Amino acid sequence: MSESQKITRKNRGRTRAPIVLAIANQKGGVGKTTTAINLAAALAQNGSRVTLIDLDPQGNASTGLGVDYNARTRGSYTLLMGEAPAQDLLQETEVDNLDVIVASTELVGAEIELIAEDGREQRLKTAIAGLSEQTDYIIIDCPPSLGLLTLNALVAADGVVAPLQCEFFALEGISHLTKTIEQVRRQFNPTLSTAGIVLTMYDRRNNLSELVAADARSFFGDAVMQTVIPRNIRISEAQSHGTPVMTYDPRSSGAASYTALAKELQTRLDSRKGGTP
Ligand code: ADP
Ligand code: MG
Repeated sequence: MSESQKITRKNRGRTRAPIVLAIANQKGGVGKTTTAINLAAALAQNGSRVTLIDLDPQGNASTGLGVDYNARTRGSYTLLMGEAPAQDLLQETEVDNLDVIVASTELVGAEIELIAEDGREQRLKTAIAGLSEQTDYIIIDCPPSLGLLTLNALVAADGVVAPLQCEFFALEGISHLTKTIEQVRRQFNPTLSTAGIVLTMYDRRNNLSELVAADARSFFGDAVMQTVIPRNIRISEAQSHGTPVMTYDPRSSGAASYTALAKELQTRLDSRKGGTP
């Protein structure tokens, strides 16, 4: 561990509650899972202890972090159903400081099963309370819907990171998400913030990317992160190799952009009151 990493940890203090970030957007294919994996890995490489929770029944984040399908019997479903403490569900990844709670195979039925449970929207919040000693950041990869799983993530979270793919209709999707965040704030989680909107799959050669980015900045202002994630083949290749892009190709533009995003987000979160979003 480097000197700077030690300092980071020491300053954070062991009793401080982790910062919980939900990576959400009800549209599929916008870069949620990619952002969850690579943001988590970048924060971990920066010396923070990070736990990624895969809350999407498709389990792409679990795959993207190299967890074998056979090792998915216990995970976020087990957690939501209160069948095991969160600490017992952590699995190590090849990135130091980064653990994952995988999407258990039964997560597919969870949206329906949760309807009958007491405190159905609070299950995740209650379950992760036990992780406060182990981790500095909890990153939740949400499914592409605004159902009970995403609601559980928004109720448990301090902030939402919303990937926005630079293409047609992207802003409409994000407006819908913003309304949902407001509703969750009113009903369940008054301190939930928009930690940042992240422009993903940005293509410099494509005018549409530039137009969408400009629109997003004029509409959402400072909520849009300065760091933009370019379309970079190394990012998707890394996923198919079951590893974050920083370990797959540290010199790629994809790795550099997610490292920069993690730094920007940390600065943003630290500048808010008490270091929480
Ligand atoms: P979501 O979780 O929102 O459904 P994903 O993160 O799975 O979206 O991304 C959708 C697809 O786009 C995946 O195949 C992923 O590898 C690819 N992808 C995401 N971000 C990038 C990027 N910046 N450059 C290239 N491919 C990307
Ligand atoms: Mg996904």
